[in-house]
Amino acid sequence: MSLRDEIMIKEKFTCRHCGIPIGEHNQYLHDGMCNECFFELYFPEDAQIYELDIQKLSQICKMEKKENLGLRDFIKSGRLDQKEFATIVKEVAEKIDCTTCGNCCRVLKTTLSKEDIDRIARHLHMPVEDFIEEHITKNAEGVYEVKHVPCSFLQKDNTCQIYEVRPEECRGYPHLDKDVTTRCIQFFANAEVCPIVFNALENAKGVFLEDIYDFEISDEGGEL
Ligand code: SF4
Ligand code: SF4
Repeated sequence: MSLRDEIMIKEKFTCRHCGIPIGEHNQYLHDGMCNECFFELYFPEDAQIYELDIQKLSQICKMEKKENLGLRDFIKSGRLDQKEFATIVKEVAEKIDCTTCGNCCRVLKTTLSKEDIDRIARHLHMPVEDFIEEHITKNAEGVYEVKHVPCSFLQKDNTCQIYEVRPEECRGYPHLDKDVTTRCIQFFANAEVCPIVFNALENAKGVFLEDIYDFEISDEGGEL
């Protein structure tokens, strides 16, 4: 008999979130959860920063695929408390300095509108045609996007050379101020690129743990 089996018999119960063995105290007084899950759910002091290493974001998202699918289905169900989610995002964003990262400018192909192009060309004192020739291209959908990745306006200190007039797409990234219910696919894709999105996602899994669990055992959750 393994040590884990021995503990399970002695402890009789398991944490309803992470599944590790727990005793009667936790079963009846900590809402059926181990200490870590209980305190994470009921006493989250502030948003936590779990990971800032860009190289690891995608890897962790893949490892936590099942958990993330649970959150995704919960968000898509429309049960997410948008106000509470906005608080999580704000707390995470306050703790992460984009100038120590710059990853979105390094890996994403930002799209530009006609207004973006005119504004930036004017700012650079360049004829629009020259600006297009030098910096942007049309993608398969016929939409203008930056020609180079990393973006040619990204400077060594991770700041943007055209910050005041940057494209609207850059201004809005990582788009967490928009309704995440209708932007679920982008939200989870951006978690593999942006530490703000990744850590907001991780925090949301903790804060909405109970709601996700209730959703998963509901008829609606079972159907998805
Ligand atoms: S928005 Fe995200 S990916 Fe872009 S620089 Fe800030 S933390 Fe990094
Ligand atoms: S224009 Fe500026 S903000 Fe936008 S991708 Fe390039 S460097 Fe980043």
